[in-house]
Amino acid sequence: MALYNVMEEVVRDVLMQYKDQLQLTCLCERCFNDIMAISLNELPPRYITNEEYGPYVRAEHVADRQGATNIILIVTKAATFVSKNPRCAAMNLATSELPV
Ligand SMILES: [Zn+2]
Repeated sequence: MALYNVMEEVVRDVLMQYKDQLQLTCLCERCFNDIMAISLNELPPRYITNEEYGPYVRAEHVADRQGATNIILIVTKAATFVSKNPRCAAMNLATSELPV
């Protein structure tokens, strides 16, 4: 029996929805995963065992205005942190070209 953390999808949805407003300096998979990981570490997980219930649980989170606002805040904070401290190869190459 597989376990699903519905929060993963909720955070991914928020990230996709707001990615143009988050002023991300990098859009690579590594940076996206870093933002997801940091956000998910701050949010309580919401595990389900039946993937079919996923849409219902996600709908609950979207309907909960205060909870949804909190998730957006956490994702925004994580996105700002990763944008300032990118750990992906592309950014490492870019910074290694700096004259310092
Ligand atoms: Zn990146």
